[in-house]
Amino acid sequence: MRLCFATQNIHKLKEVQAMLPSYITLVQPDDIGCKEELPETEATLEGNSLQKATYLFQNYHSDCFADDTGLEIEALNGEPGVYSARYAGEPKNPEANMQLVLEKLALQANKKARFRTVITLIINDVINSFEGILNGEIISERRGEKGFGYDPIFIPKGFDRTLAEMTLEEKNKISHRAIAFQKLNNFLTQKTTSI
Ligand code: IMP
Repeated sequence: MRLCFATQNIHKLKEVQAMLPSYITLVQPDDIGCKEELPETEATLEGNSLQKATYLFQNYHSDCFADDTGLEIEALNGEPGVYSARYAGEPKNPEANMQLVLEKLALQANKKARFRTVITLIINDVINSFEGILNGEIISERRGEKGFGYDPIFIPKGFDRTLAEMTLEEKNKISHRAIAFQKLNNFLTQKTTSI
């Protein structure tokens, strides 16, 4: 079964393909005729993932799913949230984003934060959504070289290392993205076994 994943990133597609049942073949928007950039203009993670999946479904009539992830910091009322990729402005700059978070949190005692991934799946005309959350806290300096984005300043709850100090294998056991995609996987697996 062909399922379109709303991403232009082939590495992300391959990673997710490895997590899904083998009867599912992931394709990219390009493969179903969508050459344009997908709209992503909503104010929430839910809104953005729904917007991307709905766009593909309505215009290209393919079963599909989309995801969106953000870092939500309690003392900053959930910022950067949906703006995580471009928190410090254009162009995307992970270093500047981290710097801005550290500056805004410098005088705050509450360092609690979480990563949240939302997936919207549209299959047989029905919309389903899945969420993955990783709770933790922001530290006051960068630690670690691995990972990407905000990984060097985020320590998951129950750990003493940042995500950037963990191997990809360790991160994939606990991450927001892994939790959300595991839920998608379970849903798709149940769907086949119930047919
Ligand atoms: P996306 O929706 O997966 O493209 O994620 C949006 C932005 O959230 C990224 O550009 C990163 O800034 C941040 N982000 C998402 N996932 C992670 C993660 O696992 N670690 C650190 N930052 C992340």
